[in-house]
Amino acid sequence: MDRDPVCGMIAKEEFKYEFKGKIFYFCSNLCKNEFKNSPDKYLKHRHRSYESEEIKERKIAYFSMEIGIDSSIPTYSGGLGILAGDFIKSCADLKVPLVAVTLLYEKGYFNQKLDAQGNQQELPVQWNREDFLKPLPNKVGIKVENRDIFIGAWQYNVLGISSYSIPIIFLDTDLEENSEYDRGLNDFLYGGNQWYRLLQEIVLGIGGVRMLQSLGYTGIKKYHMNEGHAAFLTLELLKEMKNNKEAELNFEAVRELCVFTTHTPVPAGHDQFPYDLVNNALRRFLPLDVLKMLGGEEQLNMTFLALNLSKYINGVAKKHGEVSRSMFPEYSIESITNGVHSSTWVCESFKKLYDKYIPDWKNDSFSLRYALSIPGDNIWKAHQEAKNKLIDYVNEKTGKEMDYKTLTIGFARRAASYKRADLIFSDIDRLIKIANDAGKIQFIFSGKAHPQDGMGKDLIKKIIAASKWLENKIKVVYLENYDKELAKLLVSGVDLWLNTPRKPQEASGTSGMKAAHNGVPSLSILDGWWIEGCIEDITGWSIGTPQNMESNDQQDASSLYDKLEFAIIPTFYVGREYWINIMRHAIAINASFFNTHRMALQYVLNAYD
Ligand SMILES: *Cc1c(COP(=O)(O)O)cnc(C)c1O
Repeated sequence: MDRDPVCGMIAKEEFKYEFKGKIFYFCSNLCKNEFKNSPDKYLKHRHRSYESEEIKERKIAYFSMEIGIDSSIPTYSGGLGILAGDFIKSCADLKVPLVAVTLLYEKGYFNQKLDAQGNQQELPVQWNREDFLKPLPNKVGIKVENRDIFIGAWQYNVLGISSYSIPIIFLDTDLEENSEYDRGLNDFLYGGNQWYRLLQEIVLGIGGVRMLQSLGYTGIKKYHMNEGHAAFLTLELLKEMKNNKEAELNFEAVRELCVFTTHTPVPAGHDQFPYDLVNNALRRFLPLDVLKMLGGEEQLNMTFLALNLSKYINGVAKKHGEVSRSMFPEYSIESITNGVHSSTWVCESFKKLYDKYIPDWKNDSFSLRYALSIPGDNIWKAHQEAKNKLIDYVNEKTGKEMDYKTLTIGFARRAASYKRADLIFSDIDRLIKIANDAGKIQFIFSGKAHPQDGMGKDLIKKIIAASKWLENKIKVVYLENYDKELAKLLVSGVDLWLNTPRKPQEASGTSGMKAAHNGVPSLSILDGWWIEGCIEDITGWSIGTPQNMESNDQQDASSLYDKLEFAIIPTFYVGREYWINIMRHAIAINASFFNTHRMALQYVLNAYD
């Protein structure tokens, strides 16, 4: 039988399609439709990514607990997953020979509903994996307790700009041969208790390595752990080498193979499992003293496991590298600052603008520096188009009658307490006074709280309460169900992107980078990427000083109000030319650097060599 010209998988008789007198066969309706929409793309470059020689050429296996590639595949919760998806897209554009591994979450990360008081309700997301992913025939097993957990796989191909594609392997335990409990292991992302989470991470790390072998990925030279969740893969590699040829466990050889990116600047954020649980699950996979040597005395700490068995270790911004080195002084830790995938995050009106003035920008994110040459009127027009779209959306959803001309400030991210979404409301009277004296402002908020994060949920209620106090004075809305699509509407449609994390807890942050890609400047605490990206009055504004290491809520709020009152609002309303110049520099200085093309190149040169 033929191969599917879209994905390269075995084609089926039933999915045939005639084009220019020739019959083509496909593996599914999905590929058939994709071909029907743009046959030329596929005829020019036939995909071979499933063929064995192509599989053997893949050199890097990228493991991530969540990957956010599209809002219709809801297997991500926030920044970590979106970053993974953006990174994979850039690798596809740049033809980095990578294969990605993650878990398939059948119920996705939840749909958020908010009542009038802001109480969050979590509804399962209905999605049908067959619509997006292709089943693979392979199965592998892992011994857990006294049974086997069987794991199947689905594949999604991320197509790069020149038709190179990167496979994402979604691991799936919802198989008939598994118990009810094991079948449910891929229901939820970050759901369930510690035991559930432990088994998920075993499936990801150990199951993932076995699945890659079963699929024929024999040329892998680096295993990249995107955060510690996947660190069980190191144990599988250790054991496998011992089974194959070595007399002893060869830690050095495994270290050669592994790359670890940490994303968490606070110790409490690292996954830990009691050794009792680990022993119950994995029995005598490896001797307990070896596990303790690698994962820490008290509990198995996934970060220690990854640190001890990786040759290249990095944080996700320069400051985060520093913070990580002071948390783990015994390890050599580098940093590679995060980015976002440029063509994914640029809105339609700016796409048109860049296509006109910077023709190669999609291929070459660095060329966005040339945005300095774009005439101000055109930048303003493109922004106004994006803003109108957002305000229309807000007004339709909330009936708040937001204004198209008012300075609109956006804040959207996971509702976690360290992000301090309510900092802007710490002195309501001052805020009202600023809006009266300096110029009108309005706010758009969005973000989901983790289902088990009570403080995060309270934060949403506080914002909604503040919006009621401010009724008729300052318009404030909280949009439900923040996801990738809404994020794009927000980062491109607001005038100013606000970020107020408590230092030093923002490892990097990426939404401000998305805003910069649409010419939207940031007003942010100097933490994470903003330390590298902020040039005061040129790319945006800082809150607080670089000197203070820990945040003080009161000082930060006062600095925030000062910046709004004396710098931002007057510039927006009175110094429009100057404002547009800041927009231009946000693109030229920040979008040209804080993108995943640059980031992927740094991983290739520094981590994967
Ligand atoms: C970009 C993004 C995030 C992460 O934003 P941060 O600023 O890094 O917190 C979270 N959720 C969604 C849907 C996003 O698009």
